[in-house]
This record gives sequence, structure tokens and C-alpha cells, in this order.
Amino acid sequence: MTNADNEYDVVIAGGGLVGLSLAAALGKADFSVAVLEAREPVRDWPADSVDLRVYAITRASQRLFESVGAWSAIEPHAGPFRDMRVWDAGGTGDIHFSSADLGEPYLGHIIESRVIETALLDVVDSLPAVQRLCPAVVQGFESGDEQQTVELEDGRRLTAKLLVGADGKASRIRDQTGIKVRAADYGQQALVAVVSTGRPHEETAWQRFLPTGPLAFLPLADGRSSIVWSATSHEAERLLALDETEFCAELTRAFDRRLGEVTGCGERVLFPLRRQHAERYIAPRIALVGDASHVIHPLAGQGVNLGLKDAGELAATLSDARARERDIGSMPVLRRYERARRGDNAAMMLAMDGFKHLFGSRIPPLRWMRNAGLNLVDAAPLVKNQIMRSAMGL
Ligand SMILES: Cc1cc2nc3c(=O)[nH]c(=O)nc-3n(C[C@H](O)[C@H](O)[C@H](O)COP(=O)(O)OP(=O)(O)OC[C@H]3O[C@@H](n4cnc5c(N)ncnc54)[C@H](O)[C@@H]3O)c2cc1C
Repeated sequence: MTNADNEYDVVIAGGGLVGLSLAAALGKADFSVAVLEAREPVRDWPADSVDLRVYAITRASQRLFESVGAWSAIEPHAGPFRDMRVWDAGGTGDIHFSSADLGEPYLGHIIESRVIETALLDVVDSLPAVQRLCPAVVQGFESGDEQQTVELEDGRRLTAKLLVGADGKASRIRDQTGIKVRAADYGQQALVAVVSTGRPHEETAWQRFLPTGPLAFLPLADGRSSIVWSATSHEAERLLALDETEFCAELTRAFDRRLGEVTGCGERVLFPLRRQHAERYIAPRIALVGDASHVIHPLAGQGVNLGLKDAGELAATLSDARARERDIGSMPVLRRYERARRGDNAAMMLAMDGFKHLFGSRIPPLRWMRNAGLNLVDAAPLVKNQIMRSAMGL
């Protein structure tokens, strides 16, 4: 349990959505936990504003939030989506996924990052076994046989049986452990914004594959849509520089007028897109979760969902090890976590890369194949259901 000597079972570096979820799951299981976050969270915002970071949250992630007691605070602000439509700008390929075909009420929810973060912070702050230190910047750590000693920039020191790197794509914990990443630049940036449209979004997540990259419209609870427009870096910079009227007109055309005219657009922000996969997720008394271990293309909105699966799996692995009186920082215990998650994450990364290359191609046989493929899948209910279940994280 928490004690005055700064000794913990687990220290988590990084209190993003993945680090906080892990802290909540471990705290509920009565592990003593410190979660260290450099950035002060935003807890108040104007009622009519929308966070630019908006996530498509799968049913699997929803279950994790339910299990830690955060979902009831998230749900009133979550926009369910019941359908998903994907089509190709370069042909006739069109696919429609519907929750009704699965006998489910919805496929997932579109939720602002800050809504999830606030709910998780409230859970974490209510757990006596968890201490949240913020602002607290992890400077480095020293590995011992029995424990890790974590050093903060302000000179504080904490010890733990296990140090978890939940510190995002530029993870200091990963780099200082000497774990290398396989990385590739997609040569794309994602333009993110909140827009209003002439027609209602129909609680549908829309995605159109353009030759320059995918364009997604995600339905928000307030009737607006959050867009993620991935494009070559040069094209993304050009779109960012347009004035609002010009941008809305281009967006309307790029989206095939599926939701009528785009009538308004808030702040636009670019995110560079890069694929990154850590060669290992573990080292003695170290585990990596979330973007610290894998960063994927946002085209299927799976990044944070995969990280939340990491958090759920690591919490289950550590609980099981403790029940069997095993050392939670030992390699045999941590290997179970790595085995469970690495393959799943790698498969999703491979699928995203495949989609990106297939839909980015102008080569006629590939264009024909992807259009035929989309239509074929659309006409095959069993395959379609399987894809949908996998995208829902079920
Ligand atoms: C344009 C775009 C759209 C996306 N859309 C989706 C989507 O729809 N669905 C989805 O599932 N995913 C999506 N993603 C991916 C998602 O944003 C990431 O996967 C997710 O934010 C990773 O969460 P994390 O907690 O692992 O890392 P982060 O959110 O990066 O959190 C890491 C935390 O660690 C802290 N930190 C870092 N270093 C230190 C240190 N030394 N000391 C203390 N604290 C530290 C940081 O301040 C930060 O709060 C999208 C990504 C992009 C770019």
C-alpha cells in the first residue's frame, strides 16, 4: 500500500489515458501505485467548446472504463455511432457496417479526450492505493535487483517493484532502457478540426479514401463532426493555410457532399503521422504500454484502444502474479504480458499499413482490386461481421 517512504508496487511514468487507466485498474486491485504526470490536466472548459482530441472508443475500451468505475461519468458526453460507411474516391467500392446487423445497439462511441481524462482522474483520486504526482517530470531511473529507483526533475526519488513507461511516443523510459523502435514516417500529416454540416451525421462514422489519404468524419454528441483528414505533408500544410470559407468548400468537395455543405469549421491543427513499434515491451522491472510501445496510423481510430488493451492485460497479469506470490517485476511474469499484446498490436499495425498503401495507390489493378474487395466484403455478411467485431475490440 502507499507509504510515506515513497515505496510502491508500481510507478507509472505518464498520466495520459493509458497511464491513468492502468493506475485505476491496479489501484482497484489494491496495488500501491504512483502515477507521475508532467502536464497539469485541464478540468474546466467552456460549455460549447469541443476538445480537438476526439477518440472513437471501442466496446472493449468501454468495458475497461466500466470495470474501473469511470464509464458512468463518460457516458453522458459520449456520442454513440451505430453505422460506419467507408468508400473509395477512386472507384465504386463502398462498404456499410451496421450495428443492427450484429444485433448490437451501437458500434462504439466518439468521445473527447478531456472527458475521459477527467473521469479517470476522479477515479484515480478516489483510490487510497494510488498517489498521483503532478506536475512531476521523470528524469531517469536506476535499476536494482529488487527495485527500480525513479528520479524526478525536482529531485524527488521513488522506488517500485515495477516501473511502467506510459509516457507516450517519445518515451524516456523506453529510450533509457535501451529498447529500440522500428519506425517509419508515413510522409503524411493529419489535419484535425470540428466542423458543422448541412445534413445530420446520422450517428455514422464516415471515411472516404482519397488518393492523398483517408478523410474521416466522426459524429459528435452535439451534432457536429470531428474530422481527421490525413494527407501528404505538403497538401496538409496547404489545407491548413486556407481561410475558413475556402477550407469548408474544399472539405465539402473532398467528402463528396455526403453530409451536404460543410458550413463552419473551428480551429485546425496538424499531427505528423508516423508508425513506430518497440522491439521489446519489457525489460527487468520495466514494462511499456500505449504509445510508448506502438504508434499507428489513425485511419481506423485504434491507437488509444490498443493502449487500453495493454493496460487491461498488464493489470490482469500483475494481479495473477501476485495471487501466485510471484515477483511482479520479474521477466517470467512480464513475458506473459508481452506475449499477450505484441502480436495483437503488430497485426493491427500491419492491417493499417496495408490499408494505407492499398488506398494510396493509383496503380489500376490495385484500384480495381480494392473496389472489388470493398464490394465483395460488403456482400459477405460473415466476413463483415468478423471485421466489425474486431474493430469493436470484441
Ligand atoms: C490525429 C490523430 C487522431 C487519433 N485518433 C484516434 C482515435 O480516434 N482512436 C484512438 O484509439 N486513437 C487515436 N489516436 C491515437 C491516440 O491519440 C494515442 O494512441 C493515445 O493518445 C496514446 O495514449 P498514451 O496514454 O499512450 O500516450 P499520451 O497520450 O502521449 O500520454 C503520455 C503522457 O506521458 C506524459 N509524459 C511524457 N514524458 C513524461 C515524463 N518524462 N515525465 C512525466 N510525464 C511524462 C505526457 O505529458 C502525456 O500526458 C489518434 C492520434 C492522432 C495523431
